Amino acid sequence: MARINPEFSDELKKYGAFDLNACYNCGNCTAVCTLSDEENSFPRKMVRYSVLGLDGDLEASLDPWLCYYCGECSTTCPREADPGELMMSLRRWLTARYDWTGLSGLLYKSLPASIFAFLLLVVAVIWFAAKQQFDVASIMHYGHFFEMAAITLVFALILLPNIIHMWWLTIYKPGIKAPLSAYFKSLEDLIVHMFTQKRALGCDDNQFRWFEHFILVLGYLLLLFTTVFLNWFETTNLFVIILGYVESAIIFVVTFDFVRRRIQKDQAISKHSHPSDWFFVIWLFLMGLTAFTVRLFIDVDLLETNLWIYLVHLIILVQWALIIVPFGKWTHFLYRSFAMYFHRVIELKG
Ligand code: SF4
Ligand code: SF4
Repeated sequence: MARINPEFSDELKKYGAFDLNACYNCGNCTAVCTLSDEENSFPRKMVRYSVLGLDGDLEASLDPWLCYYCGECSTTCPREADPGELMMSLRRWLTARYDWTGLSGLLYKSLPASIFAFLLLVVAVIWFAAKQQFDVASIMHYGHFFEMAAITLVFALILLPNIIHMWWLTIYKPGIKAPLSAYFKSLEDLIVHMFTQKRALGCDDNQFRWFEHFILVLGYLLLLFTTVFLNWFETTNLFVIILGYVESAIIFVVTFDFVRRRIQKDQAISKHSHPSDWFFVIWLFLMGLTAFTVRLFIDVDLLETNLWIYLVHLIILVQWALIIVPFGKWTHFLYRSFAMYFHRVIELKG
């Protein structure tokens, strides 16, 4: 029998802004959603599950990840219940459910906790720089080492166990028996969705937003590769130097546009901004901008006398790698890709 959690709507409210009581179950939202179909009928089903407090069914569902938040359902809801924002809130809630550390939930629900975590890392970086006697070469050396260590450890200790937990909740626990071959055959879907998010093209009038996301993901992954594996800040290879400039510029130009839209609230999807949305776009913008500036200071020989710019970049990087990537909105990129993968596995199970 389905478990009912009477506290669920109060709990979910901590993850976003919407009015569950306003919904009168008309089904308009599902009718207008171009990504919804008979097998994956949302968002109305998700609204119903949320109203009834069926948190067990919600945590077993991949539907919240199949929504790309075009906002069409919210615009057409006659009761202004904002089902698009409900789907977004469910994604945040699910992120917290998958996370074994419990930190995602804490940071999503508590702004003071998030601010404390960000400040703690500011102090940690400055303390570390002081231990290095503010020596540029030494701090940059450890900064580069940190990038490599953070990628490995965050993936191995946080993200991988959380993906396995997601699989356990959505496939193993509901008793879905898929052959091993289905997991292999679906790998292509995982890669394609991770790099292209092509399903978002199914949303009406979404082409430009899809293109912005696509070049942002590309720019971000390439900059990661260029700084970590090609050691952008220390290389003398002209091609790599220019490549890094282009990648970092893509990041801060595109994210500047995201920040602008969130400030202007000119679309349904930017009407409500949770603190985690702000952290994500602002930190990504600052990552691109400070990386670009650090390399510029290196090229015009000003970094030695302006260590502060590298320290600002390092603080942003450390906060990004230890807060936003493992526990914040960055995880949506990963969980959505794996949701598409598991969805395909379920389709193939026969
Ligand atoms: S969320 Fe709005 S459109 Fe969807 S079923 Fe409820 S009232 Fe209708
Ligand atoms: S926001 Fe768009 S994709 Fe998501 S449920 Fe609503 S209409 Fe569908």
